Amino acid sequence: MSIADNLKKYKTEVEPLGLKLITVSKTQPIESLMEAYNAGQRIFGENQVQEMVDKHEKLPKDIEWHLIGHLQTNKVKYIAPFVKLIHSVDSLKLLQEINKQALKNERVIDCLLQVYIADEDTKFGLGFDEIIELLRSEEFELLKNIKIVGLMGIATNTQNEKQIKVEFNELKIFFEGIKLSFFRKDEAFKEISSGMSADYKIAIEEGSTMVRIGSSIFGKRTKSKE
Ligand SMILES: *Cc1c(COP(=O)(O)O)cnc(C)c1O
Repeated sequence: MSIADNLKKYKTEVEPLGLKLITVSKTQPIESLMEAYNAGQRIFGENQVQEMVDKHEKLPKDIEWHLIGHLQTNKVKYIAPFVKLIHSVDSLKLLQEINKQALKNERVIDCLLQVYIADEDTKFGLGFDEIIELLRSEEFELLKNIKIVGLMGIATNTQNEKQIKVEFNELKIFFEGIKLSFFRKDEAFKEISSGMSADYKIAIEEGSTMVRIGSSIFGKRTKSKE
């Protein structure tokens, strides 16, 4: 099937449920992104800053660019002028830098806090206790140019669907607790970014509001940079 066909399949599966489909276009050539764009897709996820900047320059300006990979503090400035949502915030220091660069660009940047839910030590993210500590801190209170709109999680890369379900369920329960404790009156705090090609169905069952689909739409990646 073509990229357009794959995209259509996911759009009709995901969007009627009120969920957002992020097409993960990392390592894919411009032509593939254009094919998805021409088929109506406007939200693209990238995990490398330089690649996202290059693609942003070359592609139509009504695309929403989502950063989904680990972000180094010294690279925030390159994406601050245009990034729509940063899914992968995993420290207060990073959040402070995003705030600083957002201020310079006279904007407020939407962010998700990446929660560590996987049973693997290679994944980035914050523990439940670290997120609570961050949200309680005085330093966080001072940040006026970032907006926390939800949480993001990556489940363990395993065939064990029960384990994946438990992990996404933990993310949902944690989201609800955080919402009650810190964002009760804040309607913007509503997103759970969870689910990739292999596990998006389970993620949707467990409350995902944004699924991040790459290889099932664009085909296998030629080089894999995580
Ligand atoms: C690559 C990536 C995806 C998409 O993965 P696929 O298996 O290709 O769908 C989703 N989320 C993150 C954070 C990624 O790095």
